[in-house]
Amino acid sequence: MKIVNLGSGSKGNCTAVYTDSTTILIDAGLPLNEIELKLKVIGIEISKIDAILITHEHSDHIKSVGRLSTKYNIPIYTHILEANCLLSKDKNVLPKLLRTFDDNDFYIKDLTISNFKLSHDANLCVGYSIYSNGAKFSILTDLGYCPKTIIEKIKNSNVVLLEANHDEKLLLNNPKYPMILKKRILSNKGHLSNTACAEVISQLVGGTSQIILGHLSEENNSPSFAYSAIKTFLAEKGIIEGKNIFIDVAYQNKISNIFEIKS
Ligand SMILES: [Zn+2]
Ligand SMILES: [Zn+2]
Repeated sequence: MKIVNLGSGSKGNCTAVYTDSTTILIDAGLPLNEIELKLKVIGIEISKIDAILITHEHSDHIKSVGRLSTKYNIPIYTHILEANCLLSKDKNVLPKLLRTFDDNDFYIKDLTISNFKLSHDANLCVGYSIYSNGAKFSILTDLGYCPKTIIEKIKNSNVVLLEANHDEKLLLNNPKYPMILKKRILSNKGHLSNTACAEVISQLVGGTSQIILGHLSEENNSPSFAYSAIKTFLAEKGIIEGKNIFIDVAYQNKISNIFEIKS
């Protein structure tokens, strides 16, 4: 299984997961031409995409989903309790291309997909664990906090793409953000801070070898800041980045490394 992030942050999110026989996208929140161009750069043929999985209806996750799905005849998968919300938010989503799932696992060719609800201020927000041939990849962006029940679900993922949205001090001191927005981001239904992200990572060590930090705020975080804050937090717990676990960053404007989980 291979994983590559095409862009992550408040301006748009899209991640490709693919095996020899199956290719899926998780979210399509980047501009359509950017998704097309980046997939071409990676060498993924859009006509071979089997599904677009949606996490939730915020525009940084669904911006291009309807147009991408319609243009290339790609089915969109969403939780059944999110379907009406998605249809009302994106008029380009064709009901005939919409597939719904419930809380149970579902299958797309050789992929088995679990979903779990995340605490976020959306109609419904889910994270996914994707399994294929012994490999497990989990993705959690947009969550206010990460309870033990979620950690249990994502444990033993080879690779986890996890939100590291903001540094709490940078957010609180940011004069551009009104207090109501700060409170929303910091709440249990907002976004995961670097510290909260590091706490989750510390509980995954042993079963997980690679973390990709995602959905970084461009205002209240930076790739180097998040990486070093999280590395320092882990070191205080005796966890060494580069030895006990590897940490990479997903950027807003550039394609990430390609992460391969060998079966
Ligand atoms: Zn969101
Ligand atoms: Zn988001």
